[in-house]
Amino acid sequence: MSTRLEGLWASRTDGPQESAITLTGVSKVYPGGVRALDRVSLTVASGTFIAVMGPSGSGKSTLMHCAAGLDSSSEGSILIKGQEISGLNETRRTELRRERVGFVFQSYNLVPSLSVADNITLPLRLAGRAPDDDWLRMLIERVGLTDRLSHRPAELSGGQQQRVALVRALVAGPAVVFADEPTGALDVRSARQVLDLLRDLVDELRQTVVMVTHDPAAAARAHQTLVMADGRVIDHLWAPTAAELAGRLAALGEV
Ligand code: ADP
Ligand code: MG
Repeated sequence: MSTRLEGLWASRTDGPQESAITLTGVSKVYPGGVRALDRVSLTVASGTFIAVMGPSGSGKSTLMHCAAGLDSSSEGSILIKGQEISGLNETRRTELRRERVGFVFQSYNLVPSLSVADNITLPLRLAGRAPDDDWLRMLIERVGLTDRLSHRPAELSGGQQQRVALVRALVAGPAVVFADEPTGALDVRSARQVLDLLRDLVDELRQTVVMVTHDPAAAARAHQTLVMADGRVIDHLWAPTAAELAGRLAALGEV
């Protein structure tokens, strides 16, 4: 990375040991009584790429939604960069989410009528903020979209659309990017490109990424993997291989 980019980034990040997210004793009981999260405690250090795996219904999406402030937890404490988000009302949670969290979804969620450039800056404009042009240009260049800025999403491949979504998630300089099955709709080659980009952005720029995935090969690109079952984190693996992860999930009954 160029010195200039490092300078640009240094102004956006904090000390090396800072925690991006800290959950302490977090439970989520849905109306109707399903306990989707059962006293989950975990810390995600800044600059970490962490994957979340586990059988269907184990609580992965609920964990992501609560940790990102999309939904409220029933008990426990959730800190994003030291700021408590549990117990906030909907309005404050929405503000905090806009300021501190980026999202990437399986289905890209781009606005079809807007150009790539306008899609990328939409969340900032909704928040009444102006993009940092140097940062924006660097990100667009980094993901290889410079010559696609005036295109509509339908004129792009799935992999390109997901790279637009990735820049959109990063443009406000979020504390954490949450990605829910970001490669779920992509062919193998595009999936690898997007995963490589995610990994590089974490390693080069110290972005923090939490990625929910069913794919052991995708999780193996992360630094760490959490394995969930029945609303609990039952394993925390450092740099597991895809084969190790596949074996662990098979043991839980996940094919
Ligand atoms: P995963 O993402 O691992 O498949 P979820 O977090 O979606 O799991 O779901 C965990 C549990 O919570 C499941 O039993 C699911 O049926 C239940 N659940 C999820 N969302 C809701 C909801 N909005 N209302 C009630 N129960 C829900
Ligand atoms: Mg889910």
